[in-house]
Amino acid sequence: MPRLSKKVGLITGANKGIGFEVARQIGRTGVIILLGARNKRAGEKAAAALSGEGLAAHFIAIDVADRDSVVAAAAAIKSEFGRLDILVNNAGIGDSADGAAPTARLDAVERILRTNFLGALAVTQAMLPLLRKAPSARIVNVSSGLGSLAQNGDLDHPAVATKLIGYSASKAALNMLTVQLAYLLRKTAIKVNSADPGYTATDLNGHSGPQTIPEGAAEPVRLALLPGDGPTGTYSDSRGIVPW
Ligand code: NAP
Repeated sequence: MPRLSKKVGLITGANKGIGFEVARQIGRTGVIILLGARNKRAGEKAAAALSGEGLAAHFIAIDVADRDSVVAAAAAIKSEFGRLDILVNNAGIGDSADGAAPTARLDAVERILRTNFLGALAVTQAMLPLLRKAPSARIVNVSSGLGSLAQNGDLDHPAVATKLIGYSASKAALNMLTVQLAYLLRKTAIKVNSADPGYTATDLNGHSGPQTIPEGAAEPVRLALLPGDGPTGTYSDSRGIVPW
């Protein structure tokens, strides 16, 4: 197993959108980036694009909703690198059959939770032994403002009318993972934080968001590269703390 002086970072769902840009920006700081993707061709193409920009980029097969795939990815990282310095739980989906609580299709809600929450939990569990081997690992859960209980209950919030029970509940659950894991790891150098990228034009929303993808990547990247005196157990966007 090689002893690496460079940091190693895994970004799930990194073949496109915010995840791809997060990988690029982290890679530009000299980190070896592992672009997690469930589609081999898309993942290899993304890694080749970033390698072409001079970054140390590698595709790694990982479908976060498939436990065997997650376990295999952890085993591959262990044998290749022996540790993991950065984990960005970015992979996420929406579903057109999601919607307001009275009418959202339950199968859609289940699909979303399986990827956005259970997927991130499974990846975190599988990668934690490798993260513990790094001197000061960072875990970033890519959440959403839609997962904020406070925002959902704030009648004056501009997004209060957007009610997607599956998607919002998946991100609220992901935020719970952030808080609980940050507590459990508080005596270690590992920091765990939730990032809200902000409403960003990607395939997820038919490119309707007002922010560019680099703008959306900014907060997850900042949290992935936090210095030793940075916070843990927080939820923030590029303007600051988001209320839980
Ligand atoms: P996107 O362009 O649709 O990218 C989503 C990525 O997740 C794709 O690479 C997709 O892979 C991957 N993915 C989905 N299911 C997966 C699975 N089971 N295993 C592995 N990868 C999987 O959307 P995005 O906007 O960049 O979203 C990235 C993250 O930001 C998501 O967690 C999303 O909820 C969050 N977010 C986005 C916004 C926004 O306005 N865009 C706002 C707040 C939060 P495929 O190409 O194979 O589908």
